[in-house]
Amino acid sequence: MNRTSYVTMLNERTFSNCVESANTIAISGHIRPDGDCVGSCLGLCTYLLDQYPDKQVDVYLDEIPAEFLFLKNSDRIRQENVDQIRYDLCISLDCSDLERLNRANVIFKEAIHTVNIDHHITNEGFGDVSVVCPESSATCEVLYHLLKQGQLFGNGEISFECAEALYTGIVHDTGVFKHSNTTLEAMTTAGELIEYGLNTEKIINDTFFKKTYIQNQILGKALLESMMILDGRMIFSVVYQKDFRLFEATPADTNGVIDQLRITDGVHVAMFLYETETGDFKVSLRSDEYVDVSVIAKEFGGGGHIRAAGCTTHGQMRDIVTNIAGRVEDQLDAAMDEIDLQ
Ligand code: 5GP
Ligand code: MN
Repeated sequence: MNRTSYVTMLNERTFSNCVESANTIAISGHIRPDGDCVGSCLGLCTYLLDQYPDKQVDVYLDEIPAEFLFLKNSDRIRQENVDQIRYDLCISLDCSDLERLNRANVIFKEAIHTVNIDHHITNEGFGDVSVVCPESSATCEVLYHLLKQGQLFGNGEISFECAEALYTGIVHDTGVFKHSNTTLEAMTTAGELIEYGLNTEKIINDTFFKKTYIQNQILGKALLESMMILDGRMIFSVVYQKDFRLFEATPADTNGVIDQLRITDGVHVAMFLYETETGDFKVSLRSDEYVDVSVIAKEFGGGGHIRAAGCTTHGQMRDIVTNIAGRVEDQLDAAMDEIDLQ
């Protein structure tokens, strides 16, 4: 997607008016916020406060992973349940459906105006203004172009701290510039952000690669107990509540497990499940060139991208694995048939 088409996709005037006329603005992203979600929410918050110091800008997110606390305005994040405040504008970022806004769902529904900025292919476009760019590597990439355009709202001047947040989002959603969404546009955007003087090595190491001892232990356990299925074409691993208790770990400590599973030689699809407090399983799916995991995740009530998707599902672990593996096998067989025909 070229730069100008971001703006032509939306009703410019509605978007500008929504922002310019709002005195109170709420920003939110999806549950279990990741780097792109945190980066886009804090990047936009910083931009808005820089441009309009008189506006009230509040960010609603679940507790963010500690590695993102260095980002400016992370101390403004609110976690309380709000059902009485009616904001002039609520902006949803990196969130493919309203349910995933969690407690901010009410704020979004109550707000006078609503905006939805995202890059998930499963986002069906909610809100008064909706900018969904599935070709973009990250919501931070979409946001950078929207802000840079300048003619939408504010003067387009991005501060160092805003650039830091947006860069962090792109780093995380591209897996440090290695996933298939690492397009020329993603690299160019990251390059332009680096020009703001960012310490990229520190951002990448501190927020992506650094692991606590507990995280390494959980990773080790998950890899040791992983299983290859579908004749080695799929791998999966599970972490249960009892494991979290044993290691004094939280679900955030499983970040990175799926990335290690997916690089197993011969594997086309990797799946990682962890048991949530309610006894459901949070499922992460990753694929290489053959399987569209967004379709599978959507079928199980979730969503995401073609090569990275997820869902939360209830039931016996064995049944969940069997059902999802069945869908993976169907797609793999279809892909192999196609290759044979060529
Ligand atoms: P992860 O496996 O890292 O949690 O998520 C991978 C991708 O799928 C992310 O873009 C994430 O937003 C999306 N995703 C994960 N779980 C769900 C879910 O339950 N519902 C939807 N709609 N998307 C999900
Ligand atoms: Mn994202």
